[in-house]
Amino acid sequence: MHDPQPLGAGALLKAMPGLHAIWRCHIGLEVESPIASAAWTFLRPYAERHDHAIFSAPEYVPGFLAARASVMRPTIDPLGHKNRELSPHKLVGVLCNSALVAGAHPVLTPPFAHPALRLRSDGTFAPADQPSDIGLLFRPVVTQVSRWDRLKGFRPLLDGFLALKRRAGDGAHPPRHRRRLEIVRLVLAGPDPAAIQDDPEAREVLAELTAAYRALEPGAQADVAVLTLPMASVKENALMVNALQRCSTVVVQNSLREGFGLTATEAMWKAVPVLGTQAWGLRQQIRDGVDGRLVTHPDDPEELAQVLDEMLADPKQRFVWGQNGQRRVHDAFLVFGQVSEWLRVLGECDGPARAAASDAVRPARGPR
Ligand code: UDP
Repeated sequence: MHDPQPLGAGALLKAMPGLHAIWRCHIGLEVESPIASAAWTFLRPYAERHDHAIFSAPEYVPGFLAARASVMRPTIDPLGHKNRELSPHKLVGVLCNSALVAGAHPVLTPPFAHPALRLRSDGTFAPADQPSDIGLLFRPVVTQVSRWDRLKGFRPLLDGFLALKRRAGDGAHPPRHRRRLEIVRLVLAGPDPAAIQDDPEAREVLAELTAAYRALEPGAQADVAVLTLPMASVKENALMVNALQRCSTVVVQNSLREGFGLTATEAMWKAVPVLGTQAWGLRQQIRDGVDGRLVTHPDDPEELAQVLDEMLADPKQRFVWGQNGQRRVHDAFLVFGQVSEWLRVLGECDGPARAAASDAVRPARGPR
C-alpha cells in the first residue's frame, strides 16, 4: 500500500488469511507538531494492521511503528520514459510533438494528442508554442516541475526570478553574464490540475499563480512560461518532463517542505545542477555546494535571486555540480539498488509463514 490514502484497504486485506500487507509512506515530517500527531492518531489503527512499514527517512518513522519499519530512499528508474537518455533528435522531437517548441523542420513522429499548454496574458491556456516559442533550445532556462502545491514554493520562485531579471540592468555584471540574465527564462510546469483528483489545492494554487502572471508587464510575461502538462498519456507526460529537465540550465525545487523531492533526483540524474532548499528531504539528496545549491529561505525572493545569479554566472561550477549529482544518484537513488532492500523486507515479512509452509511440503526430486 502506498501513502496514507489506501491504508484502510491494506488493513482490510491483511485480515484475509495468508496475505501480508506492507505500507510504504512517501510523505514525512522530521519534527513533531500537534497537526502531525493528530494525523498519526487517526492513521494508527490502520497502519498498525500492516506487517511492515517503509519510510523515506529515519526521522519520519512514528514511535508505534519503530519495531517493524525500514527506511528506503525513493529511487528512480533510469530506463523509464521520465529519465531515459534522449538523443538530440529525440529530445527535439518530444519538444515539437508536445508544442513546447515551434518546430521549424519536419520531425519523425506525429504531434501528441494533447500538447503542453502555456498560460497567456488573458488568463487562458493555449498550446505552449503560442503566442511565441519559449526558446527552450536556445536560452538559459530555469525550471521547476512540480505539483501545484503551495509548499512547492512556485510563487516565491517567480518573485525571485523577477528580482534576478532586475539585476541584469544594474551594471554590476560582465557583459556575458549580463546577456545571460537578459535572455534567461523561467519555466514553471505542473500537471493539468483537472487530471489529479486527490489534489484539491492544485486549482487554487494555479489560480493564484495565474493572477500573479497576469499582473506582470508584457516583457516579464514573455520571460515566464507557466505550463500545464497533460496527464492523458503517462508516457507522453513523462517524456515532456524528461525533455524539460534536460534543456534546463538549472532545475529548481523551491519546496518549503519536502519529504523527498523526486524532481531533484530526476534532474541530478540528467547532470543538471539543482537549486533546492533546506527542506528535510532535499537536504538528504542535494549536498550544498557539491551537487548544486540550497537556499535557506525559499520564501525570500532576494536570496533566490542571489543564488540563481551565482549559479548562472558559473558554467564550470554548474558542470561540476551536474556531474556530482549524477554520480550521487547513480550510487544512492537508482531503483536497482532497491531490489535487495525489497527482498530483505519481503523475506522478513514472509519468513515465518514460509518456514511453516516448507515444513509441510515434501522436498521435490530434482528440477521441475
Ligand atoms: N511530475 C510529473 N508530471 C508533472 C509534474 C510532476 O510526472 O506534470 C512528477 C515529477 O517528475 C516527479 C513527481 O511528479 O516524479 C513528483 O514527485 P516529488 O517527490 O518531486 O513531489 P511530490 O509530488 O511527491 O510531492
